[in-house]
Amino acid sequence: MNEDNFDFDLIVIGAGYGGFDAAKHAAEHGLKVAIIESREMGGTCVNRGCVPSKALLAASGKVRELANAEHLSGFGIHAAPVRFERQKIADHANNLVSAIRSNLTKALERAGVTILRGKGRLEGNQCVGLREISGVDRLLSSKNVIIATGSDPFVPPGIETDGRTVFTSDEAVNLEWLPRWISIIGSGYIGLEFADIYTALGCEVTMIEALDRVMPTFDPDITKIASRYLLDGRDIDSRSGLLASKVIPGCPVIIELSDIKTRELKEKLEVDAVLVATGRVPTSKELNLESVGVNLDKGFIPVDERMRVLVKGKPLPNLWAVGDVTGKLMLAHTAAAQGTVAVDNILNNTRKIDYRSIPAATFTHPEISSVGFSEVDAKEFASKDGFELGVVRSYFKANSKALAELESDGLMKLLFRKDTGEVLGAHIYGLHAADLIQEVANAVARRQTVVELSCEVHTHPTLSEVVEVAYKQAMKQVQHSADSNK
Ligand SMILES: Cc1cc2nc3c(=O)[nH]c(=O)nc-3n(C[C@H](O)[C@H](O)[C@H](O)COP(=O)(O)OP(=O)(O)OC[C@H]3O[C@@H](n4cnc5c(N)ncnc54)[C@H](O)[C@@H]3O)c2cc1C
Repeated sequence: MNEDNFDFDLIVIGAGYGGFDAAKHAAEHGLKVAIIESREMGGTCVNRGCVPSKALLAASGKVRELANAEHLSGFGIHAAPVRFERQKIADHANNLVSAIRSNLTKALERAGVTILRGKGRLEGNQCVGLREISGVDRLLSSKNVIIATGSDPFVPPGIETDGRTVFTSDEAVNLEWLPRWISIIGSGYIGLEFADIYTALGCEVTMIEALDRVMPTFDPDITKIASRYLLDGRDIDSRSGLLASKVIPGCPVIIELSDIKTRELKEKLEVDAVLVATGRVPTSKELNLESVGVNLDKGFIPVDERMRVLVKGKPLPNLWAVGDVTGKLMLAHTAAAQGTVAVDNILNNTRKIDYRSIPAATFTHPEISSVGFSEVDAKEFASKDGFELGVVRSYFKANSKALAELESDGLMKLLFRKDTGEVLGAHIYGLHAADLIQEVANAVARRQTVVELSCEVHTHPTLSEVVEVAYKQAMKQVQHSADSNK
């Protein structure tokens, strides 16, 4: 027991990205920490998410590039027909997963974190029940508890999965086979990334979206230009306003498509496989949260900006939640950031999370990224706060580096306040958009204005000049707005 008679200063339930960062940060600051994990160390990101999917995207992206004879001939290059080995691409992803999982586990051990294997649950806000893999049940006391149990794929009613012909991203990352024709249900970032992988490797894709436009979570202008290239320009038939009301696994897989509004059966498809990419649900059911009176919000744990768990809007002492289970910007770096914010608060360094400055990226070829407000939300904010919203567009086709790469399909949209010049958000589609967004995210985090940002020198020739051009265009509107208010 430690000096306060607790077994630990901090127990973290769940060793995904959120739990990992929290546990490591706490141990490095002298706390006695245990982390409980029921599956593989590293959680979704390392085992079934970011890591394997990005490895598959890297390999399939190279296949796409080498197979694009028209693009290569623009450089005067004529490559031999591309051959690839599916199993070796899958091995690349699996090997990367093992390496990163092992590094992460060692990093926790080095920091002095006690790793406990089994299922954790709450038994009050300073007591955790641990059901070990052997079946032994233990109670552990802890001064603070962080819940970081993440999320699982959501499979809508009517869809039956068998893990082989109808599956979620959990299985897709293993790339066990390449169906000739695959239907992807959902056109969010996971659906888009797998459409990128499958089409690069020669599969035909039918993308089904229930909402009235494909890519519904992306900026409409970005969607217009990105879908032209990423969907229409590829072996992808995309349909919107249709609900996959029934999916029966087998050979072939049967899909029934109904009108989203009338529920009338519209079409039956017979495909080789179906990937269900319809979002994720929080892993919160078996945590015994009732024992501390927490009311879940659609399964998500309510938290404040310091990551304290809320009961009827008020923070519970010593109980914290981070990552996908809180339902805020469900991304690995959000989970990690929330984890360190929770621990800083435990250490009495009061800190709040700033969701506005957290970027998001889709690693298609080319990539899509965003940070801050959507245009719709920014307009609402502008009308409430009484300022004029500025919107400028900067095009990759005017960028020397993009032109040199023969990849000038791209757009950046910057949102800012016309009165102060403060950057409110950005949406980018184009080469290395995921890297480009970081510059804007940093500016949003510091609440910087386009007036100061437009003076910053960008390396020539680089893609970052797309951002520079946007800042400079925006700065003229701020000056203009200031002049016209005189
Ligand atoms: C295909 C795919 C691609 C993705 N790509 C990206 C990307 O490129 N970039 C990005 O930022 N994000 C990406 N994500 C999202 C990212 O993986 C998640 O946001 C992130 O993993 C959330 O971390 P977490 O710590 O909240 O939860 P998780 O990573 O889900 O970890 C939670 C852990 O808790 C464990 N657990 C659950 N219940 C218990 C219990 N009762 N006791 C003990 N352990 C328990 C689980 O086994 C799991 O290991 C992707 C996701 C998917 C599915």
